[in-house]
Amino acid sequence: MTGSITVLGAGSVGVGTALHLQQRGWNVTLVDKAKPASETSFGNAGVINASSFLPLNNHTLWKSLPRYLRNNQPQIRYSWARVLAEFPWLFYFLRYANSRATQETSAALNQLCSEALNEHRAFMQRAGNMHRLTQNGWLKVLRQSKGFDPNGLEGRLFEQFGVGVQPLTAEEVYELEPSLNRIFSGGYLLTDSASVNNPFALINEYVNQFSIDGGTVVETDVRSVSFDGSQFTLHGDNLLHTENLVVAAGPWSADVLKPLGYRAMLGVERGYHQHFHPQDGAQLNRTVYDLDAGYIMAPMEAGIRITSGVELARRDAPTNTAQLEQVIPRAYEAFPLSGPTKDPIWRGARPTFPDSRPVIDKAPAHENLWLAFGHQHIGLMSGPITGKLLAQVISGEKTDIDLNPFKASRWIRHSGR
Ligand SMILES: Cc1cc2nc3c(=O)[nH]c(=O)nc-3n(C[C@H](O)[C@H](O)[C@H](O)COP(=O)(O)OP(=O)(O)OC[C@H]3O[C@@H](n4cnc5c(N)ncnc54)[C@H](O)[C@@H]3O)c2cc1C
Repeated sequence: MTGSITVLGAGSVGVGTALHLQQRGWNVTLVDKAKPASETSFGNAGVINASSFLPLNNHTLWKSLPRYLRNNQPQIRYSWARVLAEFPWLFYFLRYANSRATQETSAALNQLCSEALNEHRAFMQRAGNMHRLTQNGWLKVLRQSKGFDPNGLEGRLFEQFGVGVQPLTAEEVYELEPSLNRIFSGGYLLTDSASVNNPFALINEYVNQFSIDGGTVVETDVRSVSFDGSQFTLHGDNLLHTENLVVAAGPWSADVLKPLGYRAMLGVERGYHQHFHPQDGAQLNRTVYDLDAGYIMAPMEAGIRITSGVELARRDAPTNTAQLEQVIPRAYEAFPLSGPTKDPIWRGARPTFPDSRPVIDKAPAHENLWLAFGHQHIGLMSGPITGKLLAQVISGEKTDIDLNPFKASRWIRHSGR
């Protein structure tokens, strides 16, 4: 099946979907209120990693919870306004922190993560931007924690899913990253990992190729979506009519679906970044996760990008840079930084369902409406593979994997049903 279709949302997930639909012969219109990848897909750490399947709310979260409840940790902080306003989301988020759900979600996400790099590479080859990719692993470094434990939760899952991991002594860490300051006791390298040096440019280059191949890009803020029984109307600067619609609006997806009668239990995990200049001669060869200090350092075109942990605040609550301020001195301890660049501090909101799995599915109450959102920590990497799977569903093809773990009915209800 082919025809005309509109994809609402030009982040990693919407763009991945638009490209795969186009490859199948669909006449695709991609709609966003701003330039593609201007929101969550803009400011991430750029990691494409086969091993990012372990959800934040895995069952070991309970062990760390007393520490997190003090609300002064770099890894997770929360606001009471969010806890009170979105208590059901939080309740289910914690309820899924059990060993069975951890196993199920890890297995489900592994199916996305393990294909993420192949799918990006295929897009990069087509768009001619392979130079953005560095394939030299993701380095996790330790200050005081003991080294990689093959019998721990992560270690067992890595073994189960065949993830390449190389435990490292301090000396081996410094061989890989000679510019790091000598404060680390060891670490481990996720050998199958890659990273990109500018997620915004990467996705915009994919969109350029989409336009060259005949796709249409429309920039308009869609204030509402209606359905008259045969077609959808997107109410933006002008009215856009479409028989087939994909909603891939990241953390705004629940708002977009509301006028169509849907309630989605979509929450967010906010995060921040700031760019820094390295000191003369200092170089970061790959993305480094300073595990004990709770931040990631990613070498980007714009400088060294320091990203902070998870802030469980309401999506549109005012910026709170406390976590970033907490980790920046730790980053200075770890690497010779000379100071921040002129870029402003960036804030984004990872779209997250309580079971930490996205929805990749047809909508429950409309024949020609499809959904792709809720990719929490892995949306940059899994945008293209999500797009492939959803394009297969939409085109009536057999999907590469079983999409039951990503069903909409888990968290999305229609008032007419
Ligand atoms: C600090 C941080 C670090 C991260 N690191 C990584 C990482 O290393 N690797 C990784 O894979 N993931 C990472 N992530 C997660 C990743 O960034 C997200 O999962 C991903 O960007 C989500 O993509 P998306 O397309 O669903 O949403 P978005 O990128 O937010 O795209 C949604 C789009 O919809 C548009 N939109 C919404 N509503 C409307 C409307 N009404 N009208 C018109 N347009 C609309 C928005 O403008 C936006 O462009 C990180 C996230 C954060 C915050």
